[in-house]
Amino acid sequence: MAPSGTQAQLGTVTHWIGGKAWEGSVARWGDVYNPAIGEPAARVALADQAVVDHAVATAAKAQQSWGRTSLAARTRIMFAFRELVERRKRDLAEVLTREHGKVLSDAVGEVNRGLEVIEFACGLPHLLKGEFSENVSTDVDSYSIRQPLGVVAGITPFNFPAMVPMWMFPLAVAAGNAFVLKPSEKDPSAANFIAQLFADAGLPAGIFNVVHGDKVAVDAILGHPGIAAVSFVGSTPIAKYIYETATRNGKRVQALGGAKNHMVVLPDADLELAADSAINAGYGSTGQRCMAISVLVTVGDVADRLLPRIQERLRKLKVGPGLDSASEMGPLVTKEHHARVVSYVEQGQKAGAALVEDGRTTKVSGHEQGFFLGPCLFDKVTADMSIYTDEIFGPVLSVVRVETYDEALSLVNSNAFANGVAIFTNDGGAARRFQHEVHVGMVGINVPIPVPVSYYSFGGWKSSLFGDSHVYGREGLQFYTRGKVITSRWPDPRHRGVNLGFPQTH
Ligand code: NAD
Repeated sequence: MAPSGTQAQLGTVTHWIGGKAWEGSVARWGDVYNPAIGEPAARVALADQAVVDHAVATAAKAQQSWGRTSLAARTRIMFAFRELVERRKRDLAEVLTREHGKVLSDAVGEVNRGLEVIEFACGLPHLLKGEFSENVSTDVDSYSIRQPLGVVAGITPFNFPAMVPMWMFPLAVAAGNAFVLKPSEKDPSAANFIAQLFADAGLPAGIFNVVHGDKVAVDAILGHPGIAAVSFVGSTPIAKYIYETATRNGKRVQALGGAKNHMVVLPDADLELAADSAINAGYGSTGQRCMAISVLVTVGDVADRLLPRIQERLRKLKVGPGLDSASEMGPLVTKEHHARVVSYVEQGQKAGAALVEDGRTTKVSGHEQGFFLGPCLFDKVTADMSIYTDEIFGPVLSVVRVETYDEALSLVNSNAFANGVAIFTNDGGAARRFQHEVHVGMVGINVPIPVPVSYYSFGGWKSSLFGDSHVYGREGLQFYTRGKVITSRWPDPRHRGVNLGFPQTH
């Protein structure tokens, strides 16, 4: 889209290639909104095939020497980068709030969780150590090493514009790869902010590149012969498309998809803790988290005791612009997404669920054009309703009442998504049984958002992940490197002699 008269006055977000902002021509632009005021805040360049080709060629050239740079030198840059992100955390959080809408404290939390992965990557020399076996056969030694893949790409969603890229590139770059990031076009500025910090930390030009854009840029990445691996995080239909297309093109792929996370509350649970947790995990970031709780599964008489506690808290929740320190819940990301979430609320009512809290009535004074929707709570939801089957990705929490633990487990295990799940109980035996029986990748026991720390790996099961590798942690490092095993023998007169038989240990 060509910039209109007003857009020409706005900030411009362009690609970051070869250690600097792109100065070439831009054929198409997209609008970036400030969701709290409902107006465009900037325009973002949308890359075509030629821009992606240029980014990959630049990355490939830079990677040749980066891959040979010592572990000590690479690690020093990661430590310097870590210090800069820590120092500029609040500024980065403000960038996130302006374009995503999440409240500032939540944005700072996002940066903190991303920082954890940078810190993990600082331990690279230890993590990359191989194995060595002396004398696997007489006078023969074997050892393993892991080497970078070359140029790898990351394609990321709007809901964590800093943290999700940080799940990927710190490990990829530290391991010796060059990285091409294609962030969400809805909130693109964080990627450039991070790129500048990485450059300031001493990262050689061309190792971390940002290509902004939409499907055109994504397809150029998926088909590019110079890209060895693709990490994707986003919705399930696109994750499936990315996985199928990129693997067909011979790439290594990890594609994390959408979610519908359940929180099971057993009758013996601490209901004050459960009510707080349901609010925090259901409405934090306005429900736009892949680990948000969107279904409360109440067992036995729990609903009648828990719902009043949740409603009491909901009525005090302060909805407002993210930069206002009094706000607890910000707007949705775009007008289109707002309309989509509202349409689910309507579908839930039509299907016969009881809407006990209706956030559509919430108004934010002075921000009438912002994409605000207050918290919505449905009771008596059943598994056939679209508010149960679909990922809504908004401040809409559904309560499904069941009689027994077995019914709760069967409900969770029948769902197509399997990203996160939580159980609230004071019964250790029940919790232990649940962790074993539930078919979900990340499980919380009295923890509503069980996002693994950086030295474990993040990922769901079933429709929440395509590929066999989770992100960050050891699995992340495995993903961005490939193994090589060397079998060596140094000349010794004993080894002489022709023998056409298959090599055997002796
Ligand atoms: P999305 O799938 O619409 O977009 C993700 C990325 O794919 C963006 O960079 C976008 O530009 C690109 N894209 C969009 N449509 C495309 C198309 N047709 N072809 C090629 N590329 C396309 O997701 P979103 O709305 O930005 O983010 C929200 C989704 O991400 C939710 O479903 C959420 O659950 C999911 N998510 C999952 C995790 C996880 O860890 N599993 C984490 C965060 C978000």
